[in-house]
Amino acid sequence: MLETNLQEVEEKIREACKKANRSREDITLIAVSKTKPVSMLQEVYDLGVRDFGENKVQELTDKVPELPDDLRWHMIGHLQRNKVKQVIDKAVLIHSVDSIRLAQTIEIEAAKKEIIVPILLEVNVAEEDSKFGLKVEEVLPAIEQIATMPHVRIQGLMTIAPFVENPEENRTVFKRLQKLSVDIAKKNIDNVSVNILSMGMTNDYQVAIEEGATMIRVGTGIFGERDYQI
Ligand SMILES: *Cc1c(COP(=O)(O)O)cnc(C)c1O
Repeated sequence: MLETNLQEVEEKIREACKKANRSREDITLIAVSKTKPVSMLQEVYDLGVRDFGENKVQELTDKVPELPDDLRWHMIGHLQRNKVKQVIDKAVLIHSVDSIRLAQTIEIEAAKKEIIVPILLEVNVAEEDSKFGLKVEEVLPAIEQIATMPHVRIQGLMTIAPFVENPEENRTVFKRLQKLSVDIAKKNIDNVSVNILSMGMTNDYQVAIEEGATMIRVGTGIFGERDYQI
């Protein structure tokens, strides 16, 4: 089942790339493996996927020792400040930095470990009350402040688009994030790059790719429905 799912996702990625005149290599597929057992992650790993996304620190750190070393872990869920030190040396990228305070905590813990932590800023483009993330107008001031933190490296932006029936409804959300990243790039801020746009999930990753996503986060499309009971 996983192989067929993955093939289907690959096909749809290629289709979207073709439509947008982009190359497949410009897009990183992150397999979102939250709630799924390590045996399933191993199977997807064996099919060639190396990037995996988790939304809980505990689950991520539990899975790390169970799987191969060259697997790249992405922290994509809301991060509490008291859990920062557990995850910063395990994830290759933290997608969900949603406040200056969180960035400050990452700076402190990263300095202790003498590492530099790559991050994305999470933007609540649609301003949904139920979601974390900075408002669009808060992003630039936050970046200017976080850019001064020597152990934190901003690499781009992330958004979780609203749940919609028709993925076309999210096209404007993706366009806004893309435009914001271009506006930020023009400022040429030291230590800041905005090369990564993490946007698009199972329901809408094709539209996200058409609008410039460089990382897509696909859970259900690869692993099937999640059962939160377990
Ligand atoms: C769960 C999750 C995803 C994947 O969602 P699917 O709809 O299953 O593809 C992507 N991003 C984040 C932040 C998530 O928490």
